[in-house]
Amino acid sequence: MSGPIVVLSGGVGGAQFVRGLIEVVPREDVVVIGNTGDDVEVWGLRVSPDLDTVLYTLADAIHSEQKWGRADETFHCLAEVTRYGLPDWFRLGDKDLAVHLFRTAGLRAGRTLSEVTKDISKAWQLRVRLVPMSDQPVRTHVLTDSGELPFQEYFVHRRAQDRVRGVRFEGAARSRPAPGILQCLADARAIIIAPSNPVLSVQPILSVPGISAALREARSKRVAVSPLIRSRAVKGPTASCLEGLGFEVSNRGIAAVYSGLIDGLIIDASDEGDAPGLRDAGLRVGVTPTLMKDLGCAARLAEAALRLVA
Ligand code: GDP
Repeated sequence: MSGPIVVLSGGVGGAQFVRGLIEVVPREDVVVIGNTGDDVEVWGLRVSPDLDTVLYTLADAIHSEQKWGRADETFHCLAEVTRYGLPDWFRLGDKDLAVHLFRTAGLRAGRTLSEVTKDISKAWQLRVRLVPMSDQPVRTHVLTDSGELPFQEYFVHRRAQDRVRGVRFEGAARSRPAPGILQCLADARAIIIAPSNPVLSVQPILSVPGISAALREARSKRVAVSPLIRSRAVKGPTASCLEGLGFEVSNRGIAAVYSGLIDGLIIDASDEGDAPGLRDAGLRVGVTPTLMKDLGCAARLAEAALRLVA
């Protein structure tokens, strides 16, 4: 089958997965649809954290331990802006600022987020097509016991401590998929939902009218990589999000979130016991180590996902 390999991705988990994928297929074959529900204005600048995590990871410029932000970063500007009373809880580094300046200037000049993202990708010689889910703003809000919080208020400022009761994707109903996305999904030879937070990173993408339908109608097989290992998230609030939305915190719960949108699920080798039940529910199941400890692990995981959709 020809056509691109399309990956739906959030930040860290998705970026690590795609970094592995481009070890085993040509970069030019890969299209990443990135979540922009996390986008935020900081100091008047437009920040797209998930797009930038994918960008820096694929450009091998990512902070190697944190897995987000730039390697060898400094924070001189951050120290200066606090002098003027600007908030410092969203810590933008000096190198990182450049991409936000460029993006903000482009948007102010009337260009779209996908046009600006294309230019940024070109400047980094990415050779992977990185596309925001939409050019219109869609903003994730998290419903918690302390009220409804804008995503970064919940995630960064309050360190994802609040109990999640629900999510709302502001602007989703009026948004459209970024140009080319629906065609890519229709033409794809494989569609992969990365090991990302299903509620906070993948559902915003699916909330853009037309994207879920394109997944349902795709000619290619569609596979998700479970972000859970032994019913626990590798990192982040995935378990509490699933629970809060009434999904089981298990591979069965992941399959339920993506019901009707996937043909297969990759689960960790330690969860092999889940495979028969998932197969009975009609899914193809790939059982393999899914912890991306290094590039080799991520590449093997990507290969397993590709095998399952072949
Ligand atoms: P975020 O935007 O930084 O939260 O990143 P994502 O939404 O892409 O990823 C967070 C999810 O990725 C969490 O549910 C993690 O459990 C999952 N994740 C991160 N690293 C790994 C890994 O190595 N293997 C698997 N299976 N899942 C991972």
